[in-house]
Amino acid sequence: MSLDLQSLVRTIPDYPKPGILFRDITTLIEHPEGFRESVERIAAAHRDMGFTHVAGIEARGFIFGAGVAIALGVGFIPVRKRGKLPGNTIGQNYALEYGVDTIEIHADVLNEGHKVLIVDDLIATGGTAIAAVSLIRRTGAVCENAAFVIDLPVLGGADKLRAENVAVSTLMAFDGH
Ligand code: AMP
Repeated sequence: MSLDLQSLVRTIPDYPKPGILFRDITTLIEHPEGFRESVERIAAAHRDMGFTHVAGIEARGFIFGAGVAIALGVGFIPVRKRGKLPGNTIGQNYALEYGVDTIEIHADVLNEGHKVLIVDDLIATGGTAIAAVSLIRRTGAVCENAAFVIDLPVLGGADKLRAENVAVSTLMAFDGH
């Protein structure tokens, strides 16, 4: 029996600011079957494709990405906000609505021999995911796939990723932003 995962995502209007419909995955992950099935569907779509790592984007990408890495039998890489990783890092800037942010990975974790699947909970404008792709590709690793639980297609992020030659897979889509 296939579960309606979308019905398990809660929508909270006006968070974190007026006009935003926040798609809250905490209600999905507190549901045992909902959580497991989300992870299994992402893993099933990426099995036997030669991945060596899953890269999860801080913070909600860690939740799903860790499960997908275990299901695929590969290592997990945390893509973190600036200043959180203890070793030598490489970073990539990306634009926010106001200002700039930076994501980082450890400098020695990836090389030409690796193939990485990016996982996050949601793709909106795609700014974060495109920065993660650029960062991973700078190491020489192959990064041609990204998976998200939720797509907000009106914001165009998935299309922007596809334009960067990244195949995008999502479990559900919501209209609007
Ligand atoms: P973006 O870089 O615009 O694709 O934003 C993606 C990141 O912002 C993801 O890590 C999401 O967790 C978060 N995000 C953006 N918009 C929403 C939303 N409407 N509801 C929940 N999370 C969001």
